[in-house]
Amino acid sequence: MFSTLNVFFLNICIIFLVLSITFYAMRNRLPIQYDSKLSTRVYFGLANGVTGVLLMYNSISINGSIIDLRLLPLALSALYGGSISISTTGFVLLIYRVSILQGESMIALQSSIITLLSFIILVILCARFIQNKGRLYAVIVTIGSLLVLVQMVLASPRIEEWQTIYLPYFLITISASVLFYHLSQMLQGHFVLYAYQSYLASTDELTRLANRHVIMRKVHTLVKTNAPWGVIIFDLDHFKAINDEYGHAVGDAVLRHFSVLLNQACPDSVTVGRYGGEEFIAIIPNTLSVSPTELAEKIVQSVTETPFVMQDHALTVTVSAGVAYAKNQSAPLVFEQADTALYAAKNNGRNQFILHQK
Ligand code: GH3
Ligand code: MG
Ligand code: MG
Repeated sequence: MFSTLNVFFLNICIIFLVLSITFYAMRNRLPIQYDSKLSTRVYFGLANGVTGVLLMYNSISINGSIIDLRLLPLALSALYGGSISISTTGFVLLIYRVSILQGESMIALQSSIITLLSFIILVILCARFIQNKGRLYAVIVTIGSLLVLVQMVLASPRIEEWQTIYLPYFLITISASVLFYHLSQMLQGHFVLYAYQSYLASTDELTRLANRHVIMRKVHTLVKTNAPWGVIIFDLDHFKAINDEYGHAVGDAVLRHFSVLLNQACPDSVTVGRYGGEEFIAIIPNTLSVSPTELAEKIVQSVTETPFVMQDHALTVTVSAGVAYAKNQSAPLVFEQADTALYAAKNNGRNQFILHQK
């Protein structure tokens, strides 16, 4: 009795551990749904396959018979990832089942495969009609345990096995499934919230560009590599006048308008962000493939050529920029140089960029 309980808790620990690691590793892909990316559903199916294999390996002995909880990860795959995830999990379990084949009759193996396939087909059918997750999970677990019963009856029709094996199996499966379901809901909810909070912590609320914190982290990693990098600091021209004339809300919309232009003009390798107020920044990691001066010129020009359109008229906005190259200098010094160049661009009549000359 004690050893059964011990293995049961070991199984719960396996479920909790693999589920936590899975949701953590997939935190940027959550929540897992039927229409998640194919790779997401396959990874989730694989992770549940690993849980299933560990549960089979740590099976529970009851009254001389061995039972395991592989039904639960299969059900979880179906619940979140649909047919792709459950098929992947089923495939992993099948491979494991075949690999541990030891002098068993082919009939036993065939029976396992038929049970598994029937389960997967029935579950996929049910998932089409039942929308409520909790209800679907209950139906999946019920189908799974009924199939196990059918398999047992066909293998050995002795009536007493009902009470000595199936009943304990059923009770253990149901209690573990309730725990598993709530755990998965709670963990997934936790990591969805975590991903959202991380996004908020790294994003500027108004423009959705990277915030200062992300930019400084990027610069920090660049400095550590000792590779040359470049920086462009942008400052919208006479922005205060826009606020004063059209109001703060229009000012905000102009900031968003500029952030879209900035983002569109920069290749993926360049980190763009809002540095503060009406100042923006671009960090260029590889100055050989992307020229900071050419990029600055392109952006200054595109801002002039793309007026901000309001209901009744179009507002021409301009921007000034300061560019600096970094080659083994400290980050604060490079930022100061870009700032000095920006100041020179402002003094030189605005709507232009200036490169800091050493
Ligand atoms: P310059 O060409 O010399 O840069 O002049 P400027 O008017 O752009 O510069 P100044 O520093 O005088 O004014 C910047 C203004 O930007 C003042 C501030 O109220 C406004 N501002 C800063 N952050 C925001 C924001 O989030 N939304 C809006 N609407 N305005 C902002
Ligand atoms: Mg400013
Ligand atoms: Mg300004």
